[in-house]
Amino acid sequence: MTPKRFTIMVIPEGSHRVRRFVLKRSSVKRLVALSVVLLLAVVGLGADYLRTQFDRQELARLQQENTLQRDQLQRLAVSLEDVRKEIVILAQNDAKVRVMANLAKPKSDSLVGIGGPAEDDASRGFSEVQRRIDEVRRQIDLRRESQEEIQGILNDQRSLLAAKPTGWPTKGWMTSNFGLRRDPFNKQRKMHEGLDIAARTGTPVTATADGIVSSVRTAPGYGKMVVIDHGYGYRTYYGHNSKNFVKVGQRVKRGDRIAAVGNTGRSTGSHVHYEIRLNGVPVNPKKYL
Ligand SMILES: [Zn+2]
Repeated sequence: MTPKRFTIMVIPEGSHRVRRFVLKRSSVKRLVALSVVLLLAVVGLGADYLRTQFDRQELARLQQENTLQRDQLQRLAVSLEDVRKEIVILAQNDAKVRVMANLAKPKSDSLVGIGGPAEDDASRGFSEVQRRIDEVRRQIDLRRESQEEIQGILNDQRSLLAAKPTGWPTKGWMTSNFGLRRDPFNKQRKMHEGLDIAARTGTPVTATADGIVSSVRTAPGYGKMVVIDHGYGYRTYYGHNSKNFVKVGQRVKRGDRIAAVGNTGRSTGSHVHYEIRLNGVPVNPKKYL
């Protein structure tokens, strides 16, 4: 049996009166419960305090990190801006070269769309840098396409230049022009489809442009002849040779010796009959000398 009441005695030193408190059992229980609640509250508050302290440190660390990253992003934006400026210069040079090559402006080439001063607004920061990187990449692609186009044009021009008959096929003097003339044999008026260039027998006959030998034969009107295909619709004919030095399919360069001047076929003296055909039609070689 637990007692119904408790007595707490306070005994002071000296001759003071002894105090006594009589407590009921229910009061003691309540007192104990209250103490437990208070203890729990203190423990809880303490834990909360520690957590707050920890959070504060973490926040400071994150803020520092954030500042650092913002600085890095800023530096990145600045160097990206430098890259963009160089691309602008490249684009300007490209435009000049395109003008020289008689090319149109490359499509969708808008340089105004990118750039501007580097933003330090952190909220835009990252996506803005990403956008600029994409833009720079697009510009690089445009430049590459343009360069390839220019290179193609220049290659075409160079091979066209190499393929176009130019200059004299031999060292001599012109004895008969391109056009209608009286045939030296039957005196009839007839189209003369080339130039006659007189030279001593054995004088070298040279190719007037790069090409491939397409025919080496003897024909009544031409004697011993060489035909060279230059591409781009150009063919050159060299007739009345004393000797041919090339074979069909042989690649020749402008200035290569292909034959020797002679008097073979229907000819009235030692000369080269030089003919240029453009898409099969004889043209006046005088314009190509
Ligand atoms: Zn002729």
